[in-house]
Amino acid sequence: MDLDFSAEDLAFRDEVRAFIAEAYDDDLRARMGQSKNGYIDREGQIRWLKRLNERGWIAPDWPVEYGGTGWSDAQKYIFNMETSLAGTPSTSNMGLKMCAPVIMAFGTPEQKQQHLPKILSSDVWWCQGYSEPGSGSDLASLSMKAVRDGDDYVLNGSKIWTTYAQWADWMFCLVRTNQEDRPQRGISFVLLDMKTPGITIRPLPTLDGPPQGEQEVNQVFFEDVRVPVANRIGEEGQGWTYAKYLLQFERGNAYAPGLTYALEKVKKFARLEPSDGGGRMIEDPDFRRKLADMQIKVDALNATELKVFNGRTTGEAMGPVSSMLKLEGSQAQQAISELALEAVGIYAQPFVEDTWAELRGERNEPRAGPDYAAPLAPSYFNYRKTSIYAGSNEIQHNIMAKMILGL
Ligand SMILES: Cc1cc2nc3c(=O)[nH]c(=O)nc-3n(C[C@H](O)[C@H](O)[C@H](O)COP(=O)(O)OP(=O)(O)OC[C@H]3O[C@@H](n4cnc5c(N)ncnc54)[C@H](O)[C@@H]3O)c2cc1C
Repeated sequence: MDLDFSAEDLAFRDEVRAFIAEAYDDDLRARMGQSKNGYIDREGQIRWLKRLNERGWIAPDWPVEYGGTGWSDAQKYIFNMETSLAGTPSTSNMGLKMCAPVIMAFGTPEQKQQHLPKILSSDVWWCQGYSEPGSGSDLASLSMKAVRDGDDYVLNGSKIWTTYAQWADWMFCLVRTNQEDRPQRGISFVLLDMKTPGITIRPLPTLDGPPQGEQEVNQVFFEDVRVPVANRIGEEGQGWTYAKYLLQFERGNAYAPGLTYALEKVKKFARLEPSDGGGRMIEDPDFRRKLADMQIKVDALNATELKVFNGRTTGEAMGPVSSMLKLEGSQAQQAISELALEAVGIYAQPFVEDTWAELRGERNEPRAGPDYAAPLAPSYFNYRKTSIYAGSNEIQHNIMAKMILGL
C-alpha cells in the first residue's frame, strides 16, 4: 500500500479545504465548538448536510449509480480527515450510513425511488428502532408485535434509546411478525412514517447534563400503529438478516480522523493550561507520556483503517472486522475525553447549557473559565455511551472471538 498522496490527491485536498472554508460558516463553527457529541441541532445538521449534497459530496460511500462520489480510497480518506480536522458536524446520520445500504441491497425499486433521493437531500431524517426494554444485547428476543391486518401491519409495543427520535421523519424498525418460530426467524424489517397516528415519543434524560435544547435518546411507544405491508424490506421473517447487515455499517466507521481531531484539541488545551508543577500541561512529563501513548493508539488505528478500507468495493459490508474498529474506536474516544478533562481541570466543570443559554441570548454574566472548557464534562459523560450503543464492548469481544478467532 502506497501511503504517499499523488499530486492529484493533494489538489483534491486543496479543493476540500476550499469548500470547507466557504461552506462551514461561523455560526456552524461556533455551535460545533460547544458540541458535546459531534452533533448540533437538527436545523444546523441539515444546513451542513445540504451544503455537502449541493457539492455532490454527501455520500462518498454510496455506489455512483445512487449518487455516490466515485472517489478513490485516498480521496475518501482525505475528505474524512479534512472534514474531521475542521470539526464539521457528524454526517453519520442513520439514513445515509445505516438505512440506505439496506434499502440498496434488499429494497424494491419503489422503495429505492421513494427513500434514497430524500436521504441524499437530507429532506428526511431517520431513526433506528432496534432496541426494546429487555432486548438490547439480546436483540433477537425483541417483542414489538406486528400483526397482519389486510394490507397493513398493526404495531404495538415500544422501542428504547432511540437516538434523535424527536427529529426523525421516518424510522427503520425491527418487529415481530411471528411468535412461533425460533426468535431470529420471526423478525421483520419495516420502514415507518413517524407521523403515523399512535406513536408517542418520550425523552430520556441522560447524565451529560442539560442538552443543547434537545435530548439525545428517547423511548418511543406504539399503540395500534398501522404500517403498510409495502413498507416491509425484503421477505417477512428475514428481518434479522437485514438487521445484521445494517449493523456492519453502523459499527464499521473510520474512527481515526475524529480521534485525530479530538487528540489535537487536547494538545491545544495542554499548551494553554497550567500544570500543578509549574509550566504548562504539555510540559508535564506524566501528561506527555499519556498523550504519546494515545497518539500511538490513534496512529495504529489509522493504519488499520487504511488497510481495512483500502480496495473495498463501494457500499460493500465489511463483516466482523467492523467489531474490532468499533471496539478500538470507542475505547479511544472515551480515553481522549478523559485526557481533555485532565488537561483543563477545574474549568471543565460548567455544563454546556450555560453556553447555549448565551447563544440564545438568555445569559449575560460571563462563564467561568475558557470557552473550550464548557463542553468537556458533558462530552466526557456523553462518551460513556460509545461502549454500549451499536453493541457493547462485551458483545464486540464475543463476535470477534467467534467470527474472527473461531473460538
Ligand atoms: C446513547 C445511546 C444511544 C442508542 N441509540 C440507539 C438507537 O438509536 N436505536 C436503537 O435501537 N438502540 C439504541 N441504543 C441501544 C443500544 O444498542 C443498547 O443499549 C445496547 O445494545 C445494549 O443493550 P442494553 O442497554 O439492553 O444492555 P444489556 O443488553 O442489558 O447489557 C447489560 C450489560 O450486560 C452485558 N452483556 C449482555 N449480554 C452479554 C453477553 N452475551 N456476554 C457478555 N456480556 C453481556 C453488556 O455488555 C452490558 O454491560 C442506544 C444506546 C445508547 C446508550
